[in-house]
Amino acid sequence: MKILVTGAAGFIGCETALRLAARGDEVVGLDNLNAYYDPGLKRARLGRFAGFPNIRIVEGDIVDRDGMAALFAAERFDRVVHLAAQAGVRYGQTHPHAYADTNLTGFLNVLEGCRHGGAEHLVYASSSSVYGGNTAMPFSTAQATNHPLSLYAATKLANEAMAHSYAHLYRLPVTGLRFFTVYGPWGRPDMAPFLFTRKILAGEPIEVFNHGRHARDFTYVDDIATGILAALDRPAAPDPEWRGAAPAMASSDAPWRLYNIGGSQPTPLLDFIGAIEAATGRKAEMIMRSMQPGDVPATFAETEPLTRDTGWRATTTVAEGIPRFVAWFREFYRL
Ligand code: NAD
Repeated sequence: MKILVTGAAGFIGCETALRLAARGDEVVGLDNLNAYYDPGLKRARLGRFAGFPNIRIVEGDIVDRDGMAALFAAERFDRVVHLAAQAGVRYGQTHPHAYADTNLTGFLNVLEGCRHGGAEHLVYASSSSVYGGNTAMPFSTAQATNHPLSLYAATKLANEAMAHSYAHLYRLPVTGLRFFTVYGPWGRPDMAPFLFTRKILAGEPIEVFNHGRHARDFTYVDDIATGILAALDRPAAPDPEWRGAAPAMASSDAPWRLYNIGGSQPTPLLDFIGAIEAATGRKAEMIMRSMQPGDVPATFAETEPLTRDTGWRATTTVAEGIPRFVAWFREFYRL
């Protein structure tokens, strides 16, 4: 299979591209290597592709309409994994247009590329943030999600609606995956697991929002990559078997699916910090802060639909995943 992975220099994209290449797929990885966080880390991730002649990296921007049309026309991808996005909740307050450009226009360019290029399945990243606040636990894709609390979440929710329209209008098989706080080796410097580890190792205080009363359904990156492949291998079909995954939105017979993909183990933030302390052998100095706008107090994925349809389930606990992340961090940054 010839597979496009957008965001291939990113945290999850790199892991996904490696998995696909390791099993023999031909992978084209697209990324603009932007400076939202350290481009050096993105380039280092690309170094992991050495030894895989079946991964080709194309430096380009998904917002470039003509460039995307040309790429899809020239390459004729069988399947597409779309992970490039402007991520992050707080950055949206200072850089709102980055979200509109990459997450809306860029996503539209991917949909158009799939439509005209004849791709047989698009899998794209959505996010647990679409659930907003006050959501019943565990979060289910059957719940209505009309009140995103951040611009990032709003664009991810828009992606789900756009994907449905393309599935309906053009019979494009498309699967959305709502990721729940992903962590692990090669992780993102703007996210709490990375920030906490860096500061705890440097002996610097960490800011703990909502006085540590947050709980997050932390998901290990290997589990996410396994889930992406499991979903990718089963193209959405207008088969009654697939309905019910999200009855709230699956009102047509479009080949459209939507799943949560998470560890299904909501972990209190203080326990997560405790796991980092144990793995680093250092005590965290915590500065307690109030809840930040755009944040939700807790997340918890109901993943039974994805398990039912693909056999996937998360297997890595926080107690197993954090030591692996800390070991990678120390080796990579020589700390
Ligand atoms: P990441 O920022 O590490 O990866 C995204 C990659 O996309 C980056 O390498 C970036 O350079 C690239 N990119 C951004 N804008 C681009 C553009 N306009 N053109 C081309 N490339 C561009 O993020 P990640 O954590 O790997 O996230 C992957 C996907 O999963 C994103 O869609 C993100 O919103 C989603 N997601 C991630 C998490 C998480 O916990 N990491 C949770 C929910 C959803």
